[in-house]
Amino acid sequence: MPAIIPRASWGARAPRSRATVNWTQRTEFVVHHSEGPATQTPKAIQNFHMDSRGWADLGYNFLISADGRIYEGRGWLVVGAHAPNHNTSGIGVCLIGSYTKTLPTAAALESLQWLYAEANRRKGSALRIRRHRDVTSTDCPGGALASWVSANLGKTSSTPTGEGDMVGLKQGDSGERVKFLQELLRAGGHDLGPAGIDGEYGPATSRAVLAARKAEGSKQDFGDRITGAAAKQILSQFIKSHL
Ligand SMILES: [Zn+2]
Repeated sequence: MPAIIPRASWGARAPRSRATVNWTQRTEFVVHHSEGPATQTPKAIQNFHMDSRGWADLGYNFLISADGRIYEGRGWLVVGAHAPNHNTSGIGVCLIGSYTKTLPTAAALESLQWLYAEANRRKGSALRIRRHRDVTSTDCPGGALASWVSANLGKTSSTPTGEGDMVGLKQGDSGERVKFLQELLRAGGHDLGPAGIDGEYGPATSRAVLAARKAEGSKQDFGDRITGAAAKQILSQFIKSHL
């Protein structure tokens, strides 16, 4: 289980002011990207928000870095500055980096899943999932991450989260990882036959895998197993279908 790195541990500056809310007022979980380098530190983002934007503190309630670390920003119950009219209702979570065309790392996405589940546990019911673009005119959190959030956030905690989880699957396999593969294929516009998303890697799934690969320009002629290249091509098809 990931732990949240408290403000004191990452050297956060004290806020100039703060307003708190209670869990009844919290109804939304708003996902952002920082649209900057994935290597940017929480400290650098806080300095930017406080010194250049003139805000009271780091705008987000939490930050997630590429290595999957979760940093406390304003925290669970302090009003943020991340989405106008949604700062009281929404917990703002920022994945550090730019996710217009590529997804965050599997570690970062797993931490996002964990943080959403933890928020719901604390509230005692499910917060509504929002991408920043759902509440404000913005591209944030980027097309790739926005698609991923719609398809995956809040789905069972065992849901695989990235291309690495598909690698090694082959015809004859069954289970949740196969379902994940099939969901990506179908969302990417590839026909799975009458059985649909059944968690069984049969000939229809193999045909869909091959179709996804061909659509990405692959010269390979097999779809009965998922290599690293195949996983990337399937994910790319999924992302393109959502841009
Ligand atoms: Zn945003």
